[in-house]
Amino acid sequence: MSRTLAAVAAEASTCTRCRLAESRTQVVFGVGNPAADLLFIGEAPGFHEDRQGEPFVGAAGQLLTRMLGEIGLRREDVYIANVLRCRPPGNRDPLPDEIESCTPWLIETISIVQPVVVVTLGNFATKFVLNTNRGITSMRGGIYGWHGRKVIPTFHPAAILHGGGEKSRQFVDLQDDFALIRRTLDAAVRPEPIVRDSAVPAAPSAGGTPVPSPVEDDQMELF
Ligand code: URA
Repeated sequence: MSRTLAAVAAEASTCTRCRLAESRTQVVFGVGNPAADLLFIGEAPGFHEDRQGEPFVGAAGQLLTRMLGEIGLRREDVYIANVLRCRPPGNRDPLPDEIESCTPWLIETISIVQPVVVVTLGNFATKFVLNTNRGITSMRGGIYGWHGRKVIPTFHPAAILHGGGEKSRQFVDLQDDFALIRRTLDAAVRPEPIVRDSAVPAAPSAGGTPVPSPVEDDQMELF
């Protein structure tokens, strides 16, 4: 049986697998609904996240919360995590050995939450999750199969804030991507409960229109 997210977070809170343990204020494990259909992956905690122990609480987080609201979701409805659980000093890019040390926490998180849709925020998370060198500008707008789930890459909210804000073309793209997230969640087919020895057929699945998408699902059972 798998552990609870709270148990994993408790163990992670004393993690010393990489050098970031020395400079962090605290481990920023993740936040939200442990059974969410939708899971976000950012890059790494920043200054505010390191202080407060929660991902995406600074200005970028406020934009993320607002975009969630625009598609009828609250932070409590989704799960929010990062590739790294500790803040790199000065917000520098994560180093390869830090990512390698931290990846098991992310894998265990995904295997417990079992999201239907994973949204990668920005270049870093997108390249890491989808194992690609393609930049976010060319990856966004699509849906990618990944271990039986759907990945929707979009811009990192911090990139929007630093690059022209709501007047920018990227902000319109971000809104389009969130609309795609909403449609994808609505169209997600969940397994019906099996009714044995019954003449009553299972109810039709809820959902909207399937989203045309460049899904290339490898269907590997990693999680
Ligand atoms: N940027 C990220 O990628 N993650 C956070 O938690 C905050 C800012």
